[in-house]
Amino acid sequence: MRRKKRLRARSKSYPERLSFPEETSVKWLPMLLDAYHIADKGIAFAIQKRISRGETLACAKGCSSCCATHVTIPVYPLEVVGIYWYVIEKFMGPERIELKRQLAGFKKGSPCPFLINKACSIHPMRPLACRHFNVFNRPCEPGEDPYYTRRGDVLTPDDKFKTRAVAAMLPFHGIKDRAKRKLAARSGFLDSQVQNLHEIDWNNLALRMEGKAPPLKV
Ligand code: SF4
Ligand code: SF4
Repeated sequence: MRRKKRLRARSKSYPERLSFPEETSVKWLPMLLDAYHIADKGIAFAIQKRISRGETLACAKGCSSCCATHVTIPVYPLEVVGIYWYVIEKFMGPERIELKRQLAGFKKGSPCPFLINKACSIHPMRPLACRHFNVFNRPCEPGEDPYYTRRGDVLTPDDKFKTRAVAAMLPFHGIKDRAKRKLAARSGFLDSQVQNLHEIDWNNLALRMEGKAPPLKV
């Protein structure tokens, strides 16, 4: 009984799964949202564990020097599809013009093109790598990558959740059977298809925002 109560309390603090009405018509969308939900749960769990040991999470809204500093951000193919879809279909309002300008002018080594006003403009669809990167105890200095300066302050997410998140994306690559997905995710089936966010031609997305480029090939 006490265990049930504990689980209920813990599940309340877990992040909710994102959802969009298009999930019934856009077949790959539930796979990506499931993957993000699994990852977010694993991250919340790992963060809670460290907080309960007395540490403080330094990451907070408006803190974003990581997005300006990191130039190696791995993204899976389905994540790129998700970003395209979100930006083209869902990203409206005055910041759309700014985002289009940043994407069109993006050069490797610049701050992430999705960073607008010190916030991630694609926050619900930010890649797993960004979701997983969390830092404790004090915010990063401008230009600091704490993975190298203070590795102990960087969250190590649970491998089990990370593998399950990747496995959830595998039906997009034709692997539907649950056991096979698990095995493939564990063996790094998708590793060779991972791209660096900074090496993607985001100008294509800027053109797609205006309906001026051919559909994304994956
Ligand atoms: S990783 Fe560093 S810069 Fe980024 S939000 Fe966390 S503390 Fe701030
Ligand atoms: S995608 Fe978002 S969270 Fe990731 S580096 Fe870019 S702005 Fe930051």
